[in-house]
Amino acid sequence: MQATAIKVKAIAVRAVPYKESDMIVTLVSVESGKITATARGCLKPKAKLRYSAEPFNFGEYVLQGSGGRYVITECNQIESFSSVTADIERYYAACMILESLERLSKEPQPMLLARSLSAISDLAYSGKDADCVITSFLKDVISLNGLSLDFLHCNVCKCDIEADAYFSDRDGIVCRHCKSITDIPIDAMTRAYLGGGTEDAPHPIRQKANILLSNLVYQMLGVRIGAHYFTESI
Ligand SMILES: [Zn+2]
Repeated sequence: MQATAIKVKAIAVRAVPYKESDMIVTLVSVESGKITATARGCLKPKAKLRYSAEPFNFGEYVLQGSGGRYVITECNQIESFSSVTADIERYYAACMILESLERLSKEPQPMLLARSLSAISDLAYSGKDADCVITSFLKDVISLNGLSLDFLHCNVCKCDIEADAYFSDRDGIVCRHCKSITDIPIDAMTRAYLGGGTEDAPHPIRQKANILLSNLVYQMLGVRIGAHYFTESI
């Protein structure tokens, strides 16, 4: 059987050692979503393609194989994002983004991949606060899935929400008059941070807001993201 080569633009999201010196790499690609590929011999000293198996490596990968079994034969690195490992808090946040990308990419999600790359780039190269980068990433995950949440107005009666709000599966963000008993409460400070992006909100509020957003992603998409990230950092 003739093995064919495919070329994909992808980021490495996970790598585990296999046999003596191979790594099995999970890639999330623009063209094909999630792909698993072997980086042969990449644990040997002087291995040429070692970087292709490093999580956060983004590049043009050439894969040989068929039927879902691929070997990495070439990789033109576009960005390593290696400076994201310099700060532990930013590194954990970036890992949470990779994990989210992997879990949400069963099908190709080019918009989500682009958004993830820009969030990782913010964590690696900008001075933006890590919590705020996660907040805006999670809000975009939700809006890419067709539900743009307005934290300032009730989605039912359209009033300006003044204090607490509620998240309803059916109606989105609603006020206390329009809530039903099963809705998820959002306290006033968390709501104000989510609504206005007031970046000077204290860390516990920003974190609470991010946990809430990841719960909303779970409610909407049935995918649990960031569970490890949030339990580690509390
Ligand atoms: Zn209302």
